[in-house]
Amino acid sequence: MSAPFDRVITGDVVTSDSIIRDGYVAIRGETIAALGQGAPPPAAETIDHSGKLILPGLVDGHMHTSSSTGWPGIETASRCAAAGGVTTCCDMPYDVPQSVTDAAVLADKIGWVERTSHVDMALYGTIKKTGGVDAIPGLAAGGISAFKLSTYEYDPVRFPRIDHPTMLAAFREIAKTGLPVAIHNEDQELVEMLTARARAEGRIEPIMHCRTRPPLAETMADLEIFEMALETRAHVHIAHSSLARGFEIAETFRGMGGQTTGEACIQYLCMTEDDIVRLAGKGKCNPPFRTAAEVERMWQCLLADKIAYVSTDHAPWPIERKTLPDIFACGAGLTGLQSFAPLMFSLLDERGHSPTLMATYCAERSARLHGLWPKKGAIRVGADADLCVLERGDFVFDEAAIQDRPEMRWSPYHGRRMRARVAATWLRGAQIWDGTTVLAKPGTGRFIRRQTH
Ligand SMILES: [Zn+2]
Repeated sequence: MSAPFDRVITGDVVTSDSIIRDGYVAIRGETIAALGQGAPPPAAETIDHSGKLILPGLVDGHMHTSSSTGWPGIETASRCAAAGGVTTCCDMPYDVPQSVTDAAVLADKIGWVERTSHVDMALYGTIKKTGGVDAIPGLAAGGISAFKLSTYEYDPVRFPRIDHPTMLAAFREIAKTGLPVAIHNEDQELVEMLTARARAEGRIEPIMHCRTRPPLAETMADLEIFEMALETRAHVHIAHSSLARGFEIAETFRGMGGQTTGEACIQYLCMTEDDIVRLAGKGKCNPPFRTAAEVERMWQCLLADKIAYVSTDHAPWPIERKTLPDIFACGAGLTGLQSFAPLMFSLLDERGHSPTLMATYCAERSARLHGLWPKKGAIRVGADADLCVLERGDFVFDEAAIQDRPEMRWSPYHGRRMRARVAATWLRGAQIWDGTTVLAKPGTGRFIRRQTH
Protein backbone atom coordinates (compact mmCIF):
# COMPACT_ATOMS: atom_id res chain seq x y z
CA MET A 1 0.00 0.00 0.00
CA SER A 2 1.41 3.39 -0.92
CA ALA A 3 1.73 6.14 1.67
CA PRO A 4 -1.22 8.55 1.78
CA PHE A 5 1.03 11.55 1.18
CA ASP A 6 3.95 12.13 -1.18
CA ARG A 7 5.80 14.32 1.22
CA VAL A 8 5.57 15.62 4.76
CA ILE A 9 7.54 18.67 5.91
CA THR A 10 7.90 19.19 9.66
CA GLY A 11 8.66 22.43 11.50
CA ASP A 12 6.90 25.40 13.11
CA VAL A 13 4.12 26.24 10.65
CA VAL A 14 3.39 29.97 10.37
CA THR A 15 -0.01 31.00 9.03
CA SER A 16 -1.64 34.42 9.04
CA ASP A 17 -3.29 33.78 12.41
CA SER A 18 -1.06 31.39 14.35
CA ILE A 19 2.16 29.45 14.67
CA ILE A 20 1.73 25.68 14.91
CA ARG A 21 4.77 24.58 16.96
CA ASP A 22 6.14 21.15 15.99
CA GLY A 23 3.72 21.10 13.13
CA TYR A 24 3.68 19.51 9.70
CA VAL A 25 2.52 20.20 6.17
CA ALA A 26 1.53 17.11 4.16
CA ILE A 27 1.67 17.30 0.37
CA ARG A 28 0.01 15.22 -2.32
CA GLY A 29 1.14 16.07 -5.83
CA GLU A 30 1.39 19.84 -6.07
CA THR A 31 -1.10 20.56 -3.30
CA ILE A 32 -1.26 20.84 0.48
CA ALA A 33 -3.35 17.85 1.58
CA ALA A 34 -3.15 18.18 5.37
CA LEU A 35 -1.54 20.18 8.13
CA GLY A 36 -1.42 19.70 11.85
CA GLN A 37 0.61 19.40 15.01
CA GLY A 38 2.60 16.56 16.56
CA ALA A 39 3.57 13.26 14.98
CA PRO A 40 3.41 13.62 11.19
CA PRO A 41 1.36 11.12 9.14
CA PRO A 42 3.12 8.49 7.01
CA ALA A 43 4.43 9.75 3.68
CA ALA A 44 6.72 8.55 0.92
CA GLU A 45 9.21 11.16 2.08
CA THR A 46 9.57 13.11 5.33
CA ILE A 47 11.63 16.29 5.40
CA ASP A 48 12.67 17.43 8.85
CA HIS A 49 12.79 21.20 9.33
CA SER A 50 12.23 20.98 13.09
CA GLY A 51 13.01 24.27 14.81
CA LYS A 52 12.66 26.20 11.56
CA LEU A 53 9.71 28.34 10.48
CA ILE A 54 7.56 27.12 7.59
CA LEU A 55 5.79 30.08 6.02
CA PRO A 56 3.61 30.26 2.94
CA GLY A 57 5.77 30.96 -0.11
CA LEU A 58 5.86 34.74 -0.37
CA VAL A 59 3.74 36.48 -3.00
CA ASP A 60 5.58 39.61 -4.13
CA GLY A 61 2.80 41.81 -5.46
CA HIS A 62 5.09 44.31 -7.18
CA MET A 63 8.35 43.78 -9.05
CA HIS A 64 9.97 44.41 -12.42
CA THR A 65 11.83 41.52 -14.03
CA SER A 66 12.16 43.13 -17.45
CA SER A 67 12.40 46.91 -17.11
CA SER A 68 16.13 47.02 -17.85
CA THR A 69 16.88 43.75 -19.64
CA GLY A 70 13.66 42.84 -21.43
CA TRP A 71 11.96 39.48 -21.02
CA PRO A 72 15.22 37.51 -20.59
CA GLY A 73 15.22 39.20 -17.16
CA ILE A 74 12.40 36.86 -16.13
CA GLU A 75 14.80 33.94 -15.97
CA THR A 76 17.37 35.52 -13.68
CA ALA A 77 15.07 37.60 -11.47
CA SER A 78 12.96 34.51 -10.80
CA ARG A 79 16.10 32.66 -9.69
CA CYS A 80 16.53 35.34 -6.98
CA ALA A 81 12.89 34.84 -6.06
CA ALA A 82 13.42 31.09 -5.57
CA ALA A 83 16.46 31.81 -3.38
CA GLY A 84 14.46 34.40 -1.47
CA GLY A 85 11.45 32.25 -0.60
CA VAL A 86 9.23 34.12 -3.08
CA THR A 87 7.16 31.54 -4.95
CA THR A 88 4.81 33.90 -6.82
CA CYS A 89 5.87 37.14 -8.48
CA CYS A 90 3.35 39.70 -9.77
CA ASP A 91 5.39 41.25 -12.54
CA MET A 92 4.94 44.82 -13.72
CA PRO A 93 4.15 45.52 -17.38
CA TYR A 94 6.74 48.23 -18.20
CA ASP A 95 9.08 45.97 -20.12
CA VAL A 96 11.88 46.68 -22.58
CA PRO A 97 11.27 47.10 -25.45
CA GLN A 98 7.52 46.65 -25.31
CA SER A 99 5.11 47.13 -22.41
CA VAL A 100 2.22 44.73 -21.92
CA THR A 101 -0.42 46.90 -23.61
CA ASP A 102 -2.62 44.35 -25.38
CA ALA A 103 -3.59 40.69 -25.42
CA ALA A 104 -1.05 39.76 -28.09
CA VAL A 105 1.92 41.18 -26.12
CA LEU A 106 0.53 39.49 -23.01
CA ALA A 107 0.46 36.13 -24.82
CA ASP A 108 4.11 36.59 -25.81
CA LYS A 109 5.13 37.43 -22.26
CA ILE A 110 3.20 34.43 -20.89
CA GLY A 111 5.24 32.29 -23.27
CA TRP A 112 8.47 33.71 -21.80
CA VAL A 113 7.24 33.04 -18.25
CA GLU A 114 6.33 29.45 -19.07
CA ARG A 115 9.66 28.80 -20.82
CA THR A 116 12.04 30.60 -18.47
CA SER A 117 10.65 31.37 -15.00
CA HIS A 118 11.85 29.54 -11.89
CA VAL A 119 8.76 30.53 -9.85
CA ASP A 120 5.09 31.14 -10.61
CA MET A 121 4.12 34.52 -12.01
CA ALA A 122 1.04 36.66 -12.27
CA LEU A 123 1.24 39.59 -14.68
CA TYR A 124 0.11 43.19 -14.73
CA GLY A 125 -1.14 44.87 -17.89
CA THR A 126 -1.09 48.54 -18.85
CA ILE A 127 -2.31 50.85 -21.63
CA LYS A 128 -0.64 52.96 -24.29
CA LYS A 129 -0.32 56.69 -23.69
CA THR A 130 -3.06 57.32 -26.25
CA GLY A 131 -5.68 55.03 -27.70
CA GLY A 132 -5.01 52.19 -25.27
CA VAL A 133 -8.33 51.99 -23.43
CA ASP A 134 -9.83 49.60 -26.00
CA ALA A 135 -7.26 46.93 -25.08
CA ILE A 136 -8.48 46.72 -21.46
CA PRO A 137 -11.11 43.95 -21.88
CA GLY A 138 -8.67 41.77 -23.85
CA LEU A 139 -5.97 42.10 -21.19
CA ALA A 140 -8.44 41.16 -18.46
CA ALA A 141 -9.67 38.18 -20.49
CA GLY A 142 -6.03 37.14 -20.98
CA GLY A 143 -5.71 36.58 -17.23
CA ILE A 144 -3.73 39.54 -15.89
CA SER A 145 -4.03 40.01 -12.14
CA ALA A 146 -4.15 43.83 -12.14
CA PHE A 147 -3.62 46.93 -14.25
CA LYS A 148 -0.87 49.48 -13.69
CA LEU A 149 -0.96 53.09 -14.84
CA SER A 150 1.21 56.06 -13.98
CA THR A 151 0.76 59.74 -13.18
CA TYR A 152 4.47 60.21 -13.92
CA GLU A 153 6.30 59.68 -17.21
CA TYR A 154 9.61 57.84 -17.34
CA ASP A 155 9.33 57.11 -21.03
CA PRO A 156 6.54 58.11 -23.42
CA VAL A 157 6.27 54.57 -24.85
CA ARG A 158 7.41 52.11 -22.19
CA PHE A 159 6.27 53.95 -19.01
CA PRO A 160 4.04 56.89 -20.01
CA ARG A 161 2.10 59.36 -17.95
CA ILE A 162 -1.62 58.81 -18.53
CA ASP A 163 -3.44 62.16 -18.70
CA HIS A 164 -6.56 62.75 -16.63
CA PRO A 165 -9.23 62.24 -19.35
CA THR A 166 -7.56 59.01 -20.51
CA MET A 167 -7.14 57.80 -16.94
CA LEU A 168 -10.79 58.50 -16.23
CA ALA A 169 -11.86 56.53 -19.32
CA ALA A 170 -9.46 53.72 -18.37
CA PHE A 171 -10.81 53.53 -14.80
CA ARG A 172 -14.38 53.27 -16.14
CA GLU A 173 -13.38 50.39 -18.39
CA ILE A 174 -11.26 48.69 -15.70
CA ALA A 175 -14.14 48.95 -13.20
CA LYS A 176 -16.18 46.69 -15.53
CA THR A 177 -13.49 43.99 -15.35
CA GLY A 178 -13.46 43.86 -11.54
CA LEU A 179 -9.66 44.10 -11.52
CA PRO A 180 -7.67 46.55 -9.38
CA VAL A 181 -5.56 49.25 -10.99
CA ALA A 182 -2.28 50.14 -9.31
CA ILE A 183 -0.94 53.64 -9.88
CA HIS A 184 2.57 55.00 -9.82
CA ASN A 185 1.86 58.13 -7.76
CA GLU A 186 4.11 61.11 -8.34
CA ASP A 187 3.23 64.57 -9.64
CA GLN A 188 4.99 65.25 -12.92
CA GLU A 189 5.12 69.06 -12.89
CA LEU A 190 6.37 69.37 -9.34
CA VAL A 191 9.14 66.79 -9.80
CA GLU A 192 10.21 68.22 -13.17
CA MET A 193 10.38 71.78 -11.85
CA LEU A 194 12.37 70.82 -8.73
CA THR A 195 14.72 68.59 -10.74
CA ALA A 196 15.37 71.30 -13.34
CA ARG A 197 16.12 73.82 -10.57
CA ALA A 198 18.51 71.40 -8.80
CA ARG A 199 20.33 70.66 -12.05
CA ALA A 200 20.63 74.37 -12.85
CA GLU A 201 22.23 74.89 -9.44
CA GLY A 202 24.61 71.98 -10.02
CA ARG A 203 23.04 70.04 -7.14
CA ILE A 204 23.41 66.46 -8.36
CA GLU A 205 24.39 64.79 -5.09
CA PRO A 206 22.33 61.86 -3.72
CA ILE A 207 20.15 63.75 -1.22
CA MET A 208 18.76 65.86 -4.06
CA HIS A 209 16.83 62.80 -5.22
CA CYS A 210 14.75 63.12 -2.04
CA ARG A 211 14.53 66.91 -2.24
CA THR A 212 13.20 66.88 -5.81
CA ARG A 213 10.50 64.29 -5.03
CA PRO A 214 9.02 65.69 -1.81
CA PRO A 215 6.07 64.14 0.05
CA LEU A 216 3.69 66.58 -1.63
CA ALA A 217 4.57 65.11 -5.05
CA GLU A 218 3.16 61.80 -3.83
CA THR A 219 0.10 62.96 -1.92
CA MET A 220 -1.09 65.27 -4.72
CA ALA A 221 -1.04 62.26 -7.05
CA ASP A 222 -2.82 60.14 -4.42
CA LEU A 223 -5.66 62.64 -4.20
CA GLU A 224 -6.27 62.90 -7.94
CA ILE A 225 -6.35 59.15 -8.51
CA PHE A 226 -8.68 58.59 -5.57
CA GLU A 227 -11.07 61.31 -6.73
CA MET A 228 -11.24 59.43 -10.02
CA ALA A 229 -11.75 56.18 -8.08
CA LEU A 230 -14.82 57.62 -6.37
CA GLU A 231 -16.18 58.86 -9.68
CA THR A 232 -15.68 55.58 -11.58
CA ARG A 233 -16.10 52.94 -8.82
CA ALA A 234 -12.80 51.37 -9.87
CA HIS A 235 -10.54 49.73 -7.27
CA VAL A 236 -7.60 52.14 -7.31
CA HIS A 237 -4.44 51.11 -5.50
CA ILE A 238 -1.34 53.20 -4.72
CA ALA A 239 1.48 51.08 -6.15
CA HIS A 240 3.81 52.33 -3.45
CA SER A 241 3.32 54.80 -0.67
CA SER A 242 6.47 55.89 1.14
CA LEU A 243 4.26 57.97 3.44
CA ALA A 244 1.80 57.11 6.18
CA ARG A 245 -0.36 59.88 4.78
CA GLY A 246 -0.95 57.85 1.60
CA PHE A 247 -2.61 55.09 3.64
CA GLU A 248 -4.58 57.62 5.65
CA ILE A 249 -5.88 59.22 2.46
CA ALA A 250 -6.83 55.76 1.12
CA GLU A 251 -8.71 55.08 4.36
CA THR A 252 -10.52 58.43 4.16
CA PHE A 253 -11.71 57.67 0.63
CA ARG A 254 -12.84 54.17 1.72
CA GLY A 255 -14.94 55.94 4.33
CA MET A 256 -16.59 57.81 1.47
CA GLY A 257 -17.40 54.58 -0.36
CA GLY A 258 -14.32 54.31 -2.54
CA GLN A 259 -12.38 51.14 -3.25
CA THR A 260 -9.03 52.70 -2.43
CA THR A 261 -5.95 50.92 -1.11
CA GLY A 262 -2.21 51.36 -0.92
CA GLU A 263 0.88 49.24 -0.70
CA ALA A 264 4.17 49.70 1.14
CA CYS A 265 7.47 48.48 -0.21
CA ILE A 266 9.80 46.97 2.34
CA GLN A 267 12.38 49.75 1.87
CA TYR A 268 9.90 52.30 3.23
CA LEU A 269 9.74 50.27 6.45
CA CYS A 270 13.48 50.56 7.11
CA MET A 271 15.42 52.95 4.85
CA THR A 272 15.83 56.69 5.50
CA GLU A 273 17.32 59.72 3.74
CA ASP A 274 20.61 58.95 5.50
CA ASP A 275 20.70 55.70 3.54
CA ILE A 276 20.65 57.37 0.13
CA VAL A 277 23.52 59.60 1.28
CA ARG A 278 25.37 56.41 2.29
CA LEU A 279 24.38 54.29 -0.72
CA ALA A 280 24.20 57.02 -3.42
CA GLY A 281 22.74 55.54 -6.63
CA LYS A 282 22.26 52.14 -4.99
CA GLY A 283 19.71 53.80 -2.70
CA LYS A 284 17.76 55.50 -5.50
CA CYS A 285 14.16 54.41 -5.96
CA ASN A 286 10.87 56.19 -6.60
CA PRO A 287 9.31 57.39 -4.39
CA PRO A 288 12.51 58.09 -2.45
CA PHE A 289 13.43 57.13 1.10
CA ARG A 290 11.94 59.45 3.74
CA THR A 291 12.85 60.39 7.32
CA ALA A 292 13.30 58.09 10.30
CA ALA A 293 10.15 59.61 11.82
CA GLU A 294 8.22 58.70 8.66
CA VAL A 295 9.45 55.10 8.91
CA GLU A 296 7.94 54.97 12.40
CA ARG A 297 4.62 56.33 11.09
CA MET A 298 4.70 53.64 8.37
CA TRP A 299 4.98 50.98 11.08
CA GLN A 300 2.05 52.48 12.94
CA CYS A 301 0.02 52.18 9.72
CA LEU A 302 1.06 48.57 9.22
CA LEU A 303 0.15 47.60 12.78
CA ALA A 304 -3.16 49.50 12.47
CA ASP A 305 -3.99 47.40 9.38
CA LYS A 306 -4.05 50.35 6.98
CA ILE A 307 -1.57 48.86 4.47
CA ALA A 308 -2.87 46.47 1.80
CA TYR A 309 0.37 44.48 1.57
CA VAL A 310 4.16 44.79 1.58
CA SER A 311 6.11 44.28 -1.67
CA THR A 312 9.69 44.71 -2.91
CA ASP A 313 9.38 46.82 -6.08
CA HIS A 314 12.41 44.75 -7.13
CA ALA A 315 13.83 46.50 -10.20
CA PRO A 316 17.39 45.45 -10.88
CA TRP A 317 19.63 47.80 -12.83
CA PRO A 318 23.13 46.81 -13.91
CA ILE A 319 25.63 48.18 -11.39
CA GLU A 320 27.10 50.65 -13.91
CA ARG A 321 23.70 52.41 -14.00
CA LYS A 322 23.71 52.74 -10.19
CA THR A 323 27.20 54.16 -9.64
CA LEU A 324 27.12 57.32 -11.77
CA PRO A 325 28.25 60.55 -10.05
CA ASP A 326 25.02 62.37 -11.05
CA ILE A 327 22.14 61.03 -8.92
CA PHE A 328 19.65 62.07 -11.60
CA ALA A 329 21.43 59.93 -14.20
CA CYS A 330 21.22 56.75 -12.09
CA GLY A 331 18.44 54.23 -12.74
CA ALA A 332 15.61 54.25 -10.16
CA GLY A 333 14.98 50.90 -8.53
CA LEU A 334 16.44 48.49 -5.98
CA THR A 335 17.12 44.80 -5.90
CA GLY A 336 15.01 43.16 -3.21
CA LEU A 337 13.67 39.73 -4.11
CA GLN A 338 16.42 37.67 -2.52
CA SER A 339 16.56 39.78 0.64
CA PHE A 340 12.74 40.06 1.02
CA ALA A 341 12.07 37.17 3.41
CA PRO A 342 15.17 37.55 5.66
CA LEU A 343 14.67 41.31 5.89
CA MET A 344 10.93 41.20 6.62
CA PHE A 345 11.51 38.58 9.30
CA SER A 346 14.34 40.67 10.80
CA LEU A 347 12.33 43.92 10.79
CA LEU A 348 9.41 42.23 12.54
CA ASP A 349 11.62 40.35 15.02
CA GLU A 350 13.70 43.44 15.88
CA ARG A 351 10.46 45.22 16.79
CA GLY A 352 9.11 42.26 18.71
CA HIS A 353 6.37 41.35 16.23
CA SER A 354 5.25 37.87 15.20
CA PRO A 355 6.19 36.34 11.83
CA THR A 356 2.45 35.75 11.35
CA LEU A 357 2.46 39.36 10.10
CA MET A 358 4.81 38.26 7.35
CA ALA A 359 2.40 35.50 6.30
CA THR A 360 -0.34 38.14 6.28
CA TYR A 361 1.34 41.06 4.51
CA CYS A 362 3.83 39.29 2.24
CA ALA A 363 1.69 36.34 1.16
CA GLU A 364 -2.04 36.30 1.99
CA ARG A 365 -2.87 39.97 1.35
CA SER A 366 -0.92 40.28 -1.88
CA ALA A 367 -2.44 37.00 -3.13
CA ARG A 368 -5.92 38.25 -2.27
CA LEU A 369 -5.53 41.61 -3.99
CA HIS A 370 -4.23 39.89 -7.11
CA GLY A 371 -7.07 37.34 -7.09
CA LEU A 372 -4.71 34.41 -6.48
CA TRP A 373 -5.86 33.43 -2.97
CA PRO A 374 -6.26 30.73 -1.63
CA LYS A 375 -4.42 28.88 -4.42
CA LYS A 376 -1.48 31.14 -3.52
CA GLY A 377 -0.50 32.89 -0.30
CA ALA A 378 -1.89 30.37 2.19
CA ILE A 379 -0.89 27.23 4.04
CA ARG A 380 -4.32 25.62 3.75
CA VAL A 381 -5.62 22.30 2.54
CA GLY A 382 -6.18 22.62 -1.20
CA ALA A 383 -3.66 25.44 -1.71
CA ASP A 384 -0.58 25.03 -3.86
CA ALA A 385 2.25 23.57 -1.76
CA ASP A 386 4.36 26.75 -1.90
CA LEU A 387 6.54 27.12 1.19
CA CYS A 388 9.31 29.37 2.48
CA VAL A 389 11.43 27.77 5.22
CA LEU A 390 13.31 30.19 7.48
CA GLU A 391 16.22 29.28 9.72
CA ARG A 392 16.64 31.72 12.58
CA GLY A 393 20.13 32.84 13.59
CA ASP A 394 22.70 35.58 13.16
CA PHE A 395 23.43 36.06 9.46
CA VAL A 396 24.78 38.83 7.24
CA PHE A 397 23.24 39.53 3.83
CA ASP A 398 25.91 39.19 1.15
CA GLU A 399 25.21 40.62 -2.30
CA ALA A 400 27.75 38.22 -3.81
CA ALA A 401 25.24 35.41 -3.18
CA ILE A 402 22.55 37.06 -5.34
CA GLN A 403 21.45 34.59 -8.00
CA ASP A 404 20.98 37.13 -10.79
CA ARG A 405 23.47 37.81 -13.63
CA PRO A 406 26.80 39.25 -12.36
CA GLU A 407 26.03 42.93 -13.08
CA MET A 408 22.85 42.67 -10.96
CA ARG A 409 24.65 41.31 -7.88
CA TRP A 410 24.35 44.40 -5.71
CA SER A 411 22.01 45.17 -2.85
CA PRO A 412 21.17 48.16 -0.67
CA TYR A 413 21.08 45.62 2.18
CA HIS A 414 24.62 44.30 1.59
CA GLY A 415 26.26 43.75 4.97
CA ARG A 416 23.03 44.06 6.96
CA ARG A 417 22.64 41.65 9.87
CA MET A 418 19.69 39.36 9.36
CA ARG A 419 17.91 37.27 11.97
CA ALA A 420 16.99 34.55 9.49
CA ARG A 421 17.97 33.04 6.17
CA VAL A 422 15.93 31.11 3.63
CA ALA A 423 16.86 27.47 4.26
CA ALA A 424 14.52 26.01 1.63
CA THR A 425 11.82 26.99 -0.84
CA TRP A 426 9.09 24.73 -2.20
CA LEU A 427 7.00 25.44 -5.27
CA ARG A 428 3.90 23.29 -5.86
CA GLY A 429 5.37 20.43 -3.84
CA ALA A 430 8.84 20.48 -5.41
CA GLN A 431 11.93 21.90 -3.72
CA ILE A 432 13.38 24.80 -5.73
CA TRP A 433 16.02 26.10 -3.25
CA ASP A 434 18.04 24.16 -0.69
CA GLY A 435 19.73 27.04 1.12
CA THR A 436 22.68 27.27 -1.26
CA THR A 437 21.54 26.25 -4.74
CA VAL A 438 18.54 26.98 -6.94
CA LEU A 439 17.19 23.54 -7.84
CA ALA A 440 14.45 24.71 -10.20
CA LYS A 441 15.11 24.79 -13.92
CA PRO A 442 13.96 27.60 -16.22
CA GLY A 443 10.35 26.83 -17.10
CA THR A 444 9.53 25.31 -13.69
CA GLY A 445 7.39 28.38 -13.05
CA ARG A 446 3.95 28.88 -14.55
CA PHE A 447 1.80 31.82 -15.47
CA ILE A 448 -0.96 32.14 -12.86
CA ARG A 449 -4.16 33.71 -14.11
CA ARG A 450 -6.26 35.82 -11.80
CA GLN A 451 -8.68 33.34 -10.20
CA THR A 452 -11.36 35.70 -8.89
CA HIS A 453 -12.90 39.00 -9.92
ZN1 LIG B 1 7.53 49.47 -9.38
